[in-house]
Amino acid sequence: MKVVIATNNYHKVKEIKNFFKGYPIEIYSMIDLGIREEISETASTIEENAFIKAHFLKDKVDGIIIADDTGLFVEYLNGEPGVYSARFAGENATYEENNEKLLKLLKGVPYEKRKAYFKTVIAVIDGEKEVLLEGVLEGHILEYPKGKNGFGYDPIFYVDDIGKTLAELTLEEKNKISHRAQALGKLKNYLLERLEEK
Ligand code: IMP
Repeated sequence: MKVVIATNNYHKVKEIKNFFKGYPIEIYSMIDLGIREEISETASTIEENAFIKAHFLKDKVDGIIIADDTGLFVEYLNGEPGVYSARFAGENATYEENNEKLLKLLKGVPYEKRKAYFKTVIAVIDGEKEVLLEGVLEGHILEYPKGKNGFGYDPIFYVDDIGKTLAELTLEEKNKISHRAQALGKLKNYLLERLEEK
């Protein structure tokens, strides 16, 4: 089974290839297929952005096409930064700048009002069929960063069930619970079911 990922993000490709190691599923990135165009993410939701990316490859490649998108949704900020998570503090903002902006906006807001969740969606185009898979991780935004692992908003995202921020978890621990891992788990089930049908 051939699966093509609509991204040029090397880390995403590596993570997904790694996830499907040992399964009869061949994963290709756009670069693997000689497609070097940038796909602009212009929609106002992560769901639409994932489908924009997946549709970009429709009719260009064979196989099942997948595209993911992730956002951090903070309840007190009416779901911000959401679809703008990567560029919250500006077009080329660093992870630190995004975190600082978020902490500033939440300054003085009590813990119980700092609820947030990460959501990862994976759009799948499988011939004429389109499917959306998702994973959600709930937590709270701390007042200060804690922990050195991970990336993005990990140091300020506290997982209440575990009593740590995502940046205090090892990659292995994060991969057991994360929004992305949950969505990838659903993708694995979907692809394995499709393999059985064949
Ligand atoms: P993307 O759609 O996976 O590129 O994610 C968009 C943005 O969300 C990233 O640039 C990060 O700022 C943030 N983000 C995504 N996944 C995570 C995560 O697992 N931890 C922390 N931040 C994340």
